[in-house]
Amino acid sequence: MNYEAVIGLEIHAELATRSKMFCACPVVDSTRSEPNVAVCPVCGGLPGVLPVINHQAVELALRVAAALGCTINSTSIFARKNYFYPDLPKGYQISQYETPLGVNGLLPVEMPDGWRKIRVRRVHLEEDTGKLTHVSKDGQDYSLVDLNRAGVPLLEIVSEPDLHTAQEVRAYATALRALLRCVEASSGDMEKGALRIEPNISVKPVGRAELGTRVEVKNLNSFRVLEKAVDYQIQRQIETLEAGGKVIQETAGWNETEGVTFSQRSKEEAHDYRYFPEPDLPPLVVSAEWQARVRAALPELPWVKMERFLRQYGITPADARQLVEDKTVAAYFESCAAALKLAPAKSAANWITGELFARLNQSGQVISEIEVSPVGLADLIDRAAGGAINLNSAKTVLGEMLNSGRGAAEIIRELRLEQVNDSEWIAGLVRAALQANPAEVEKFRAGKETVANWFYGQVMREAKGKANPQVVKEELERQLRG
Ligand code: ADP
Ligand code: ZN
Ligand code: MG
Repeated sequence: MNYEAVIGLEIHAELATRSKMFCACPVVDSTRSEPNVAVCPVCGGLPGVLPVINHQAVELALRVAAALGCTINSTSIFARKNYFYPDLPKGYQISQYETPLGVNGLLPVEMPDGWRKIRVRRVHLEEDTGKLTHVSKDGQDYSLVDLNRAGVPLLEIVSEPDLHTAQEVRAYATALRALLRCVEASSGDMEKGALRIEPNISVKPVGRAELGTRVEVKNLNSFRVLEKAVDYQIQRQIETLEAGGKVIQETAGWNETEGVTFSQRSKEEAHDYRYFPEPDLPPLVVSAEWQARVRAALPELPWVKMERFLRQYGITPADARQLVEDKTVAAYFESCAAALKLAPAKSAANWITGELFARLNQSGQVISEIEVSPVGLADLIDRAAGGAINLNSAKTVLGEMLNSGRGAAEIIRELRLEQVNDSEWIAGLVRAALQANPAEVEKFRAGKETVANWFYGQVMREAKGKANPQVVKEELERQLRG
């Protein structure tokens, strides 16, 4: 029997607000702060306090809902989701349940086999929990709680079960992160826990309409682990069914060391949480004007930009994908392309995604931190395109521009890297190289064509890399065959 997987994603994104969802505590970087420095009676869960909705969190959530084309509920309701856990001081989480902020959206995603619109079921606001650390000391096991994260605004984005492979899951999650970053709703930094992904996975015989029983894998915080966990579950569920067994609805965790998921708890139902409307908060009302203002202020969305880049600049889809991933990179590329006088925009794309990204990777910098302006890079690219320097020298110059912040012209002059196109000078170098190595010339003439490459290296070394490569190749060809 052939099986197909069906996958829907729940994604939690920490919203990029300065303060928490229902109190004035600051949102601190949990990877850097001392524990419990941002806690107050509200997020600490003391009795008798009242939550207040963070306006900025609603604004950011609206941006995401609007960008996804969701229907926005002008009145949405916060609810209490009751459960006991030591990192949840109130004993309940404030979330949205029956009436979320946004429903029925669509996210355009570039899948391995082309573009598809993945349906988004709902987008709702809630709050994060605290963090537990389990320690063992002097034979005693105990747990430490840090409430810095308790009450941090979260946006939950739930997809319909429209995905079928681990690659599609990754593509969707990547596209969603790009969107969150584009509208500046969340940093999307997975290594800091700002984006957590929970895939729901089921399998069924190909062609059967009814969905299989799903397993939900909790809190995955890298795309690599997401793909691995999804693949693992698909495999495991198919094997279970093949062996005549049944998949049990459950929540699972991911064990990175062993590369397997493990069961955490079996099926829970909504009634287990005893959801009821939060009595301490009024309904959240979002006026038509507010919605319109958010819609009008949306930036160009990643999939729109992608389409425009392909059309306007004639660059490859692979380059376009890399350039639109980050708004700052996209803007850098556009300024650079606009400043080119000689080379086509395609060259700017090549230089940025190739040489520049490689160097940024090495130095650990991001594009906004470098001292080479888009116009400065365009100048370098034009000099290479116009033959003033050759490609290799241009790469050296870029490295020096990044190190020193100086312009291409100055560096080329200082390092004497101007390309020499003088064909008589080059012919002389070639002649000298051939005369100094008669045995190699014989080999070439006896049919060993790779000797030409060796001579190319000799001549270039002699020319200190500055000779026009095309002229060197032509001259070698002429004299070797002559
Ligand atoms: P909850 O997990 O809170 O009970 P839902 O039932 O709404 O919430 O489903 C959560 C996610 O699971 C959604 O992304 C949905 O698309 C997905 N999902 C639901 N049923 C299945 C299924 N049979 N197979 C795969 N994914 C599913
Ligand atoms: Zn607080
Ligand atoms: Mg769930």
